[in-house]
Amino acid sequence: MRSQITALEALQQLDIELRELEDDLERYPQEISRYKEETENTKQSLAKAKEELNQTRKRKMESESKLSGNKDKIKKAEVKLFEIKTYREYEALQKEIGDVKKANADLEEDILKEMETLEGLETEVKEKENTLNEKEKEYDKIIDIYNRKISEITKAYEIKKQEKKKMVSLINPEIHTLYERIRRRNGVVIVQARNELCTGCNMNIPPQLFNEVLTSKRMIQCPNCQRILYCEETTEGEVQTA
Ligand SMILES: [Zn+2]
Repeated sequence: MRSQITALEALQQLDIELRELEDDLERYPQEISRYKEETENTKQSLAKAKEELNQTRKRKMESESKLSGNKDKIKKAEVKLFEIKTYREYEALQKEIGDVKKANADLEEDILKEMETLEGLETEVKEKENTLNEKEKEYDKIIDIYNRKISEITKAYEIKKQEKKKMVSLINPEIHTLYERIRRRNGVVIVQARNELCTGCNMNIPPQLFNEVLTSKRMIQCPNCQRILYCEETTEGEVQTA
């Protein structure tokens, strides 16, 4: 029975290690997607700022072209003023010139605003480009490390799985079934019995049963938590590593 307990302990250790490797195998790809997603978001945000910058440039050019067209109109109208014969025509043309000048004042204001917006957007785009460059460099390194870790862990996992297979073959099938049942329910299966206490649930073990654990002639389960109990042969003065 002692060898079965030892094998179960080894199996339990392997299961713990396998579980940790499984967690890592789940965690690292998630981390990688998180970094990729963040880079993608930065890219999209940069693209948006660039698009806005282009739109503003276009708007400014349109305003400028309208303004210069209007200035031509005014020049032509002012020349025409000298050729006008009637006061009414003169008045109408003066009004037209006034309207165009007013429109031009608005356009000039628009252009100033657009220039200001452009300045802000140019800074924004530059900053976003820098951020993206830095992030991409940093994240590429991290992702590279994580990918290497994943392949290392995958290898270690396969080796451990083989070890587990070997260990399971050393264990009596009935005991293994019991082990799996307790593991599903309690996680930890094999626990030490110390001073007539189960270290799994801290409940008392009846003296008779505790003696049986000590002699380890048969597999003893804690009456309370059903975990499999064992005693270290040299319990005296040893540090407990529950
Ligand atoms: Zn117990």
